[in-house]
Amino acid sequence: MKKINLKTFAIKAEEKKKGFRRFINKLEKQPPKNLNELAIETDKQVWQEIDCTTCANCCKKMTPTFTPKDIKRAATFLHMTPAAFKEKWLVKQKKEKDWVNRQQPCQFLDLSTNLCTIYEARPYDCAGFPHLAKQKVKDYIHIHKQNIMYCPATYRFIELLKDKLKGYPVKKDLSGLKIIGKGNKRKSPIIPVE
Ligand code: SF4
Ligand code: SF4
Repeated sequence: MKKINLKTFAIKAEEKKKGFRRFINKLEKQPPKNLNELAIETDKQVWQEIDCTTCANCCKKMTPTFTPKDIKRAATFLHMTPAAFKEKWLVKQKKEKDWVNRQQPCQFLDLSTNLCTIYEARPYDCAGFPHLAKQKVKDYIHIHKQNIMYCPATYRFIELLKDKLKGYPVKKDLSGLKIIGKGNKRKSPIIPVE
């Protein structure tokens, strides 16, 4: 596995973001019928190439949302009360009313090792991030539009999918495609902090 160079990654992501987002939009509108299977297979490929311990960019540049269960679990792990945990580290967003980190990088990231110091009790968002093969893929794929800018694994996932689906969708003959309606959009579980 290659060591991730975040500076090079940021330049590459900036260059490719428009094309990647256009591709994601197409997948949302006209998902190929094997998209879920394709995502599972591509997710496996990505993790053969990417080592998160050489990156941790999600923990450096983004914040998870902490659900009440997350707060209770993490506070208990740290022998604190949920109120003290929130007081010390979190802030409630005005619009979404979610509890998020006050600071970046995340206070629980060990910057010398890129490891999470509350790993066993980390928020659900962190445990599932970057949700590459989360089913149904069509309902979650919109979150990659932001994550391609922060997460090398997401970037590689879209790059591989784009390659596998080259030329998709075929404009004139849509007979082989299963077109699914809009469905519910889940909001992005981990959000970037500018
Ligand atoms: S809780 Fe752990 S995994 Fe989640 S952002 Fe912080 S350091 Fe990263
Ligand atoms: S999930 Fe993405 S951003 Fe987070 S450490 Fe892994 S490659 Fe980096």
